[in-house]
Amino acid sequence: MDASGLRLMAVHAHPDDESSKGAATMARYADEGVDVLVVTLTGGERGSILNPAMDIPGIADRIQDVRREEMAAAAAALGVRQHWLGFIDSGLPEGDPLPPLPEGCFALVPLEEAVEALVKVIREFKPQVMTTYDENGGYPHPDHIRCHEVSMAAFEAAGDPDAFPDAGPPWTVSKIYYDHGFSLKRLETFADEYARIGEPFPLQEWLDRMREYKRGDAWHRVTTQVEASKYFPQRDDALRAHATQIDPNGAFFAIPLELQQRLWPTEEFELAKTRVSTAVPETDLFAGIESDKR
Ligand SMILES: [Zn+2]
Repeated sequence: MDASGLRLMAVHAHPDDESSKGAATMARYADEGVDVLVVTLTGGERGSILNPAMDIPGIADRIQDVRREEMAAAAAALGVRQHWLGFIDSGLPEGDPLPPLPEGCFALVPLEEAVEALVKVIREFKPQVMTTYDENGGYPHPDHIRCHEVSMAAFEAAGDPDAFPDAGPPWTVSKIYYDHGFSLKRLETFADEYARIGEPFPLQEWLDRMREYKRGDAWHRVTTQVEASKYFPQRDDALRAHATQIDPNGAFFAIPLELQQRLWPTEEFELAKTRVSTAVPETDLFAGIESDKR
C-alpha cells in the first residue's frame, strides 16, 4: 500500500479510549506510513482509578498530569500523534435519580463551541478518514454520546466554507466510521474455544452482561474489518500505559494474545458516512480514496 499523503483522525472522549477502540488498526496504519492523529476531547480528569495497584498516595491528587503522562506513553506505544481538545471530563453520573452534570464539563459545553474546536483541528490536519463512536456512544457515558454528536457535526461542517470561517480554510473529510470493536460475536468466538478445550471462560461475566444488554450488539452494522493482529501487542502496551485506568490483571488481558490473533485477528468498524464510492464489506478504512484526495 502506498500510504503517502494518507491521514487518519480518531476522535475519542477520554485518554484510554483510543487504546481500547481501534488501537491495533491505528498502529497498523501508522506502521504503514499513514499519518495518524488521535484527538482526545477531554482530559479524563474524572476517571476513577480502576487499577488497585495505582490507588496509592500521590496519584489521585495530580490525576490530570498523570493522565497526560499515560496518554503520551500510549501514543508512543501505538506510534501515533495525539492532540488534546481541552474540554473537561463530565464523569459518569451514577445513582437514581442521576445527579446533575458538573458545571463546566464537556457534555454541557454548547455543541457549536466543541464542533468549532474540532473543525479547526480537522482543517489543519486534513484527514481523509475519521473514526468516532455511534449514536449510543458505545456505552452510555455522556462524553461518549457527545463525542459522536461533535464528530458528526464537525465531519459535515469542516468542508463547508460558510461554517466557522475563523477555523481555517475548508477541508472535506471523505469517510467517517464508528468503532464496533466490542462485539458479542467476538466474545462468543472465544467462549466457544474455551468450551472446546474444556476450560472455564475467563470473561463469562462480561459475556453474560453483553447478552443481557439488549441494545448491545451492533454486529449487523459492521461494514469493515481491518486485519491488525500483528499490532495486538502494541495495543496491549498502549492499554497498560493507562496504568490508573486499566487493571493489568483485568478483562482486557484475560484472553491470551496468540488465541486472539488466531481466532479474531481483526478490528471492526461501521462506515457511517462516505463521500467516495466504496463497496462494503471493506477491509481498509481508506478503500475508495483516490490519490487526488490525498
Ligand atoms: Zn471514555
